[in-house]
Amino acid sequence: MQALMDKLRAQRIAVTPQRLAVLASLQSRRDHPTAEQIYQEVRRQLPAISFNTVYKTLEVFYRKGLVIKVNPLHEVARYDGETCRHAHLICRGCHHIIDLDWEPAEGLPFSPQDLKGFQVENQSLTLWGVCPQCQQKTPKEA
Ligand SMILES: [Zn+2]
Ligand SMILES: [Zn+2]
Repeated sequence: MQALMDKLRAQRIAVTPQRLAVLASLQSRRDHPTAEQIYQEVRRQLPAISFNTVYKTLEVFYRKGLVIKVNPLHEVARYDGETCRHAHLICRGCHHIIDLDWEPAEGLPFSPQDLKGFQVENQSLTLWGVCPQCQQKTPKEA
């Protein structure tokens, strides 16, 4: 809990039981939950918390860099408490998001002309496809 409080304070986010619970939930799971899934987990501890509070808290964390968002093929954002650089494998069958160790190579596969003056600050890697389980479920469609 102390480590979580320090994380919030380092980003100048006021420490509240709600924020601590949302952060604890995010850091305890690696399945890239939706805001709804975080809400369902946190309300077991804090029954009075609203979905809106959870959602706003996640957005504050996102703006402060405490979580990253993964936007898969469908529209619901998935939150990721692991902010160290890694790549994602996203299954279009079951929507599982799997972390993959990844360090971007030095330099970009684009020339300065390609980038047209755009100042790149970050890059991410997402690979879409079909996981082994889903390949077995629908061998023909996959
Ligand atoms: Zn799958
Ligand atoms: Zn991830």
